[in-house]
Amino acid sequence: MEEQTLKHLEPFLNLASKIKSYHEAIGLLHWDLRTGAPKKGVPTRSETIGMLSTEAFKLQTSAEMKTYLDMLTKPEVLNQLDDINRRLVLECKKEYDRSQSVPPEKVQAYTVLTAKSETAWEDAKHNSDFEGFSPYLTEIVKLKQEFIDYWGVKDTRYDTLLDMYEPDLTVEKVDAVFARLKARLVPLQERINASENKPNTEFLNQLFDTDQQEKFSLFILGQMGYDFDAGRLDESVHPFATGLNPGDVRITTNYLQDDVTSAVFSSLHEGGHALYEQNIDESLAGTLLAEGTSMGIHESQSRLWENMIGRSRPFWTRYYQDLQQHFPQLSDVALEDFYRAINRVESSLIRIEADELTYNLHIIIRYEIEKMLFNEGLEVKDLPETWNAKYKEYLGIVPPNDGVGVLQDVHWSGGDFGYFASYSLGNMYAAQILHTLRQELPEFDSYIAEGNLIPIKEWLTDKIYRYGKSRTPSELILAVTGEELNPDYLADYLEAKYTEIYKL
Ligand code: ZN
Ligand code: ZN
Repeated sequence: MEEQTLKHLEPFLNLASKIKSYHEAIGLLHWDLRTGAPKKGVPTRSETIGMLSTEAFKLQTSAEMKTYLDMLTKPEVLNQLDDINRRLVLECKKEYDRSQSVPPEKVQAYTVLTAKSETAWEDAKHNSDFEGFSPYLTEIVKLKQEFIDYWGVKDTRYDTLLDMYEPDLTVEKVDAVFARLKARLVPLQERINASENKPNTEFLNQLFDTDQQEKFSLFILGQMGYDFDAGRLDESVHPFATGLNPGDVRITTNYLQDDVTSAVFSSLHEGGHALYEQNIDESLAGTLLAEGTSMGIHESQSRLWENMIGRSRPFWTRYYQDLQQHFPQLSDVALEDFYRAINRVESSLIRIEADELTYNLHIIIRYEIEKMLFNEGLEVKDLPETWNAKYKEYLGIVPPNDGVGVLQDVHWSGGDFGYFASYSLGNMYAAQILHTLRQELPEFDSYIAEGNLIPIKEWLTDKIYRYGKSRTPSELILAVTGEELNPDYLADYLEAKYTEIYKL
């Protein structure tokens, strides 16, 4: 038995790291495309990416892979593997089963359809023309429903989609946490709307030198413990983080002349994603486990840094003077006024511009609508009406047109259903982790106010970062906080913070 195991483990690990190498190469080509690749090189580059992706997919679904997985997933063999290798085998098995189940011609049809659909969506959004996009979306939903049958229906049809981004979470669980969150956030939002104590944000509407913005972003990233020997900061239209391997985790930001907060907070956000991947344990490097464990946990790390640390009073108590040095036009603005301005809460139409409170309501709306589409027979043609009704109900506003309503996000045009929930799950995980962090590191606030952020990074490395994908999200959150996902931590955090800011 011992020999049998070893015989298949070695070549399996080699094959898995070969796949990982393809992923790294593809990741670097993508990064290059988004950070200033010459325009004329783009068509060929896209083909190269397509070709390499196909090769990686072939390896993942090869007869060779099947042989190894058949052998290694036998219970008596699986039990002999150490934790890391067992996880790796199970991850590959899950990927293998999923990609084997859909006939290649369906995958091909889906790829072609979503490519066309993304272009159609851009036009439709621009012209606020839902009718123009509706036929594509109808086809995508239809194909996705077929895929769900191939993949296998979990508790409900939508569970199958949710599981792709947040393993172990179910519609039943997410329904419960979102219902609880909604019940506490909607009234809070209403009290804020009615408050007389609205922060003044006038002084943010000025021009801010973009070179200074870059300098300040680099400074803050250094303070967080972002390792510039294991990454770099570039510019792109939409900020993102890309982890090639723990020694090369790159981030981008976008410097807007008329909005200094955009680059500051996106640097903190992407920096949070990057700290996670830079600090994955060396033993996982080169394996398929050297990445974040789920979309939701990844997002918890970016939002912990961006909002819970970066929009806190202690943070600006320490760093506001630096910001003022970079931008003298803020020298007359009091710290307290700045703190309140960056924490203004306001019902708005656009998700990506939303504050940390109402953001969750934007997500709950999308989650409920996706669930209606896949589980409850909602038709694509009725999406705008449903969308607008929910915005009215949860945020008290109605989009004047579909371009700033149901058409605003790219996700559905690419077939990414089940993804949105992870953003809000990230906020909930972050607040729950913060609660434990404060208990275990009682000096949390004073560390931040002193500009000593490294102990926080080290705590997160010890509890979360180093494990990469070797623990599932539910194992991780249980191990760190001692309980399952609990939405009350986020509601408590938001109520405390905004009751004070708005003097409710
Ligand atoms: Zn991002
Ligand atoms: Zn993010």
